[in-house]
Amino acid sequence: MRPGDIWDTRGLRLRRVRDRLHEARLDALLVSHLPSIRWLTGFTGSSAFLLVEPGSATLITDFRYRTQASEEVGDGVSISITDSDLFSGLARRLEDSAGGPRVGFEDHSLTVRDRRALGESCDAVMWEASGPMVDELRSTKDPGEIESISSAVEVAESVLADFLGAVCEGVSERDLAADLVHRLRLAGSESIPFDPIVASGPRSALPHARPGERKLAEGDLLLIDFGARVAGYCSDMTRVFVLGAPAPWQVEIHEVVASALHSAVAATEAGVPARDVDRAARDVIVGAGFGDRFGHGTGHGVGLEVHERPSVNARSRDTLKAGNVVTIEPAVYLPGRGGVRLEEMVVAREGGPEVLTRFPLVLREL
Ligand code: ZN
Ligand code: ZN
Repeated sequence: MRPGDIWDTRGLRLRRVRDRLHEARLDALLVSHLPSIRWLTGFTGSSAFLLVEPGSATLITDFRYRTQASEEVGDGVSISITDSDLFSGLARRLEDSAGGPRVGFEDHSLTVRDRRALGESCDAVMWEASGPMVDELRSTKDPGEIESISSAVEVAESVLADFLGAVCEGVSERDLAADLVHRLRLAGSESIPFDPIVASGPRSALPHARPGERKLAEGDLLLIDFGARVAGYCSDMTRVFVLGAPAPWQVEIHEVVASALHSAVAATEAGVPARDVDRAARDVIVGAGFGDRFGHGTGHGVGLEVHERPSVNARSRDTLKAGNVVTIEPAVYLPGRGGVRLEEMVVAREGGPEVLTRFPLVLREL
């Protein structure tokens, strides 16, 4: 993609935010959630506000990012450098603003203290919680974004294939996790989207296990949940392996989870309520008698953040849209014995799913 195309894309995104502002009868929107600022402007620094008004967009950042902002931010967004904190910079910008007094703010990304600072620094403004307006727009990915996510999936999968060669009895979860991160970085992952989960034996039954000192032993299940990041976009996948020959209970829960996964992936389609996708997975697990062993939602959106909209769980009010990229990750956890979670990344399309992950789902013996 040429730089001009990227700026066209960002211009289009800003136009869509302005349409939302108009619908919500707001005069401006203060974007404070950094992934959303990146999505709208290209700015990747760690300190910024973006003020979107009907006729302008202003990135407010501090002096540390003067050069970076001018390199990353294209036409259509002006840059305002503050010598003090972001709130003072924002106050000055709002004093100059020709717009009206009703300004939306992202209530999900500001702390209570930030909210107070907004009120104190800009008292002429009527602040209104806008909800996750930009996050909602970000949940529908364009072809360029899906390409970046696919590249992140490819990096992760190529690493996993080699990494399995390093897995053997006696090595600790912590060492394996460190090795995995190292390989991901060497293979082109810009950073890691989250610390990998490498959980062995009974610890595979802990949904968010931190890699620990436990050493792998014959007969263990080994659960690996990890991802890569390319052009800012994340991947997130889980596979489970077994050291040596699997026991019948390990084969059974792996088959149940694989079947729940297939059922939910098949249901992932534009126009379908996300909770129906969750139900497709859950029905299989409940039907197999493991309903009380799957305590979390079936999946989540992935993009510039590893957890974003839409939510795929029983309480979700989201309806899948074409271009949503979600994980499907059903599981069965047997406390004290072990667990299986399998996680795929899927694009919701009109008429059916497009699965981005390709790594085999079989319970492979290591
Ligand atoms: Zn995961
Ligand atoms: Zn996930």
